[in-house]
Amino acid sequence: MDLFEYEARELFETHGVPVLRGITASTPEQARVAAEELGTDVVVIKAQVKTGGRGRAGGVKLARSPQEAQARAADILGMDIAGHRVRTVMVAEGADIAAEFYFSLLLDRASRGYLAMCSVEGGMDIETLARERPQALARVPVDPRRGLDQAKAEEIVAAAGFAEADRAAVASVLVRLGEVYRANDATLVEVNPLVKTRDGRIVALDGKVTLDANAAFRHPEWDRYRDEDSDDPLEVRARAKGLNYVKLDGSVGVIGNGAGLVMSTLDVVAKAGEGLPGSPRPANFLDIGGGASAEVMANGLDIIISDDQVKSVLVNVFGGITACSEVAKGIIDALVMLGDRATKPIVVRLDGNAVEVGRHMLLEAAHPLVQLQDTMDAAARRAAELAISERGSNVDLA
Ligand code: GDP
Ligand code: MN
Repeated sequence: MDLFEYEARELFETHGVPVLRGITASTPEQARVAAEELGTDVVVIKAQVKTGGRGRAGGVKLARSPQEAQARAADILGMDIAGHRVRTVMVAEGADIAAEFYFSLLLDRASRGYLAMCSVEGGMDIETLARERPQALARVPVDPRRGLDQAKAEEIVAAAGFAEADRAAVASVLVRLGEVYRANDATLVEVNPLVKTRDGRIVALDGKVTLDANAAFRHPEWDRYRDEDSDDPLEVRARAKGLNYVKLDGSVGVIGNGAGLVMSTLDVVAKAGEGLPGSPRPANFLDIGGGASAEVMANGLDIIISDDQVKSVLVNVFGGITACSEVAKGIIDALVMLGDRATKPIVVRLDGNAVEVGRHMLLEAAHPLVQLQDTMDAAARRAAELAISERGSNVDLA
């Protein structure tokens, strides 16, 4: 879960990371009032969007008076930055920058640890720096059991090549950023740029924080970070129905029971699509879990067929605790509930507990959109073919 810069900035403040004062605004007038309140000669107006490169896109502007702040906010509010609509700006005290640095601390799954990256050449895009001047980017592994302590911070600033005179001040900021990371179950804390001001202070001028959604259960305070505007609308709807759904970008909708089975189904669909024109790929992950009622099946099918990119659906269920007969009933009832909204071919593969009864029920119901397949491979191939065939698109237009 990504945070907005102003949210990251608040966490920085809580942990004693030096930041400049900032006030959010969602109208140009509010931006003017915020600039008056800050009362500095220069303020910065910064688009609040969860994507990088705001500066380059024109989403970060300086203003020298409250009137100018209002005008710049009017320019930035409503802008589209890499597909993100700007609804809020942050008006912040302007910094008088002497030097820009880079720092990030992130979860490094490959090493089962954390990785700190730091450079005295900040401000520019980190991917560019890593590619063009890799020697300028220090990479220092951090043991999660020790965290980013004083000794580690000193190691990082030395590796990055900070001037002797700046090392102590920068190291103390890094220790605090390490606390932001640990205390908030973050998987990323990035500051680009970390700056040295002309009056010699080290300040975090930008902030990017990603929280580990798996830790949400122990952070009730994260409720305030909920941001449905930035989320995929289908995922928002699925969450509201309690479904375990992740939108992907292919055309074959997938429903299964059990996360493992659904993940393998995605692989098998992708494999089946490889040889076909347009290489159809899975459109989503959806695990309806054990004990899937007709209602859960209907909700799942409803979400999947509302995705315009979906051309066919694959239901892959292995009956365990839930018998295939229940699943078949779920599909049949779901199609009744969906009525005219069911418009896409559905390939069903059932196996396991009460499979014969389940198949028989589906054959009996003989719904024109439903076809049965015996194996997972055959079902995936059929669903992939339907995603590209005439029939798939006709049905979609109907
Ligand atoms: P990003 O483009 O999304 O990374 O946005 P940043 O907040 O990092 O701002 C981009 C660039 O704008 C920084 O690297 C700075 O060079 C500049 N900038 C940001 N805030 C200030 C400020 O307060 N004063 C000055 N002079 N420049 C700033
Ligand atoms: Mn930045």
